[in-house]
Amino acid sequence: MSLDLPPNDLSHVVAADRAHVWHHLSQHKQYETADPRVFVEGKGMRLWDVTGREYLDAVSGGVWTVNVGYGRTSIADAVRDQLVKLNYYAGAAGNVPAALFAERLTRKMPGMSRVYYSNSGSEANEKAYKMVRQIAHRQHGGRKWKILYRDRDYHGTTIGTLATSGQDQRAAQYGPYPDGFVRVPHCLEYRAQWDVEHYGERAADAIEEVILREGPDTVGALVLEPITAGGGVIVPPEGYWPRVEEICRKYGILLHLDEVVCGLGRTGTWFGYQHYGIRPDIVTMAKGVASGYAAISCTVTTEAVFEQFKDDASDPMGYFRDISTFGGCTAGPVAALENMRIIEDEGLLENTAAMGARVLANLRALQDKHPVIGDVRGKGLFCGAELVADRASKEPLDERRVQAVVAECLAQGVIIGATNRSLPGLNNTLCLSPALIATPDDIDRITDAIDGALAKVMG
Ligand code: PLP
Repeated sequence: MSLDLPPNDLSHVVAADRAHVWHHLSQHKQYETADPRVFVEGKGMRLWDVTGREYLDAVSGGVWTVNVGYGRTSIADAVRDQLVKLNYYAGAAGNVPAALFAERLTRKMPGMSRVYYSNSGSEANEKAYKMVRQIAHRQHGGRKWKILYRDRDYHGTTIGTLATSGQDQRAAQYGPYPDGFVRVPHCLEYRAQWDVEHYGERAADAIEEVILREGPDTVGALVLEPITAGGGVIVPPEGYWPRVEEICRKYGILLHLDEVVCGLGRTGTWFGYQHYGIRPDIVTMAKGVASGYAAISCTVTTEAVFEQFKDDASDPMGYFRDISTFGGCTAGPVAALENMRIIEDEGLLENTAAMGARVLANLRALQDKHPVIGDVRGKGLFCGAELVADRASKEPLDERRVQAVVAECLAQGVIIGATNRSLPGLNNTLCLSPALIATPDDIDRITDAIDGALAKVMG
């Protein structure tokens, strides 16, 4: 069956979408009257919608996902061949792509050795939390059950992961939440909470203060985004990460890094944490693992974490008692293998570092021109510009005007993002995350669109 519809039938698709699809993160009263945006085709960084209109996608599929760009026939071919050969057997048994991807992935992550497969970032994080809780039961007599998370970070949309949402608007109206999840302060120096010289160390020390308040023997893990994504593209200040690692080691707390956005090249290294020379205990990843060509996520651990689930073969509870039906699919890991090959063979880490530097330079030049840009931050092709009504007071720009900038870029055919409906009063950061294949012309076109949009919206 082919879904190549003649143009006349595309209006039928739009009507079907309006009538039957319940869209993610959408206010449907607004959606009913908005221009239809149903995408039909993608190639590289370009997308076409049902009307044939072309867009330059500066957000990799909307949510930092399509790292290697659209229209990769080699991934589609690899997935097709694998599906015809063997599409599925539950993950308690092995399969060829799952074994090979786990091997290649852990080679990129010195110190990590085990890969647990599931299907989404939320699920990967939920698995990690279950591992931490089960370790508490098995190794610490039920103590060390608390998981610390950071203000402004996000880890997913299930009840468990929302319990670790540092973004209040996302978690509101879905409670009550389970116990044992405790918030630590964010580390964004632009909105400093401490007036000190060594801000990174001070922000990390704030985590230690929470640990001491809660009791170190009650805390099992600390989950952090290496660079906070939807919470405002927050690159931790110098000195933060080594101190965080030191604190975790001091109190025997597992360091869980959520690489769902940063992972697989987005920041110019395979993983975001690799900029900082730290050694995590658990790493979760999803979006860029297969660039959206198949659903796959991974919870990767050290051998030391894994060992804690196999110390007593005679214990009927002595293993990680978890399953994910589709975490055993073969399509995910085979797409991930090809995705990884593309990143390597096309030198996309190097390109990301170079193009990311260009994005930052362009945004900083715009900052000199537009007083509304209060702060520019980012690493690799993961950048943000925080918009303020007033530079001196740093009062956030009104959300409607931020959205007007996004809409104006769209009118110019460039899709950018913004922190949206996540942080009360702080939905004021423009987000850019083009595919890792971006060229200098692509980058300039994106920042030119922002330049024009800011001029228009701010008058
Ligand atoms: N972790 C981070 C840092 C994310 O940004 C997201 C999604 O945006 C998730 C986890 C959840 O991933 P998913 O939507 O695949 O469940």
